[in-house]
Amino acid sequence: MEKIFVSSCLLGARVRYDGNAKTLDDQILATWRAEGRLVSMCPEMAAGLPSPRLPAEIESGASAQDVLEGRAHVIDKEGGIVTAPFVAGADLAVEVAREQNIRFALLTDGSPSCGSTFVHGGHFDGQKHEGEGVVAARLRAAGVQVFTQERLGDLARAIEMAENAG
Ligand code: SF4
Repeated sequence: MEKIFVSSCLLGARVRYDGNAKTLDDQILATWRAEGRLVSMCPEMAAGLPSPRLPAEIESGASAQDVLEGRAHVIDKEGGIVTAPFVAGADLAVEVAREQNIRFALLTDGSPSCGSTFVHGGHFDGQKHEGEGVVAARLRAAGVQVFTQERLGDLARAIEMAENAG
């Protein structure tokens, strides 16, 4: 049975920067949960950040890869450098995925950690651009297929195919 790494805010945990969850109310997810397939984590909190916390973004003009390779920072809204816990959270996510042989992840889009199709631009002005967060980048590099909450159906199909093939 394929296990699935899930951003814990999608499962109702109040772990986001604003102290809230981003609950994804969906029957497929509920079924997977009942089957014991879900491995949930908030990488930022696993790395020691509190909730609520200041919003953070990857610095303007930089990518997740730049952050992971030490060329750029994650900054909070007051200009503080919070790169270390973000990278630590990405490392912890990969560690868990490896331990549990996880090949699929469902991550909250737009986050500097969990985003996988878009992130915010580093100016805290609501601007978005194509890109990924540090957790998504590191999980992908470890061979995990990443899906956003908008693509739950695609994830279900990918898992079905993987299980039929196996
Ligand atoms: Fe959700 Fe990921 Fe942000 Fe944690 S780091 S609150 S799991 S999007």
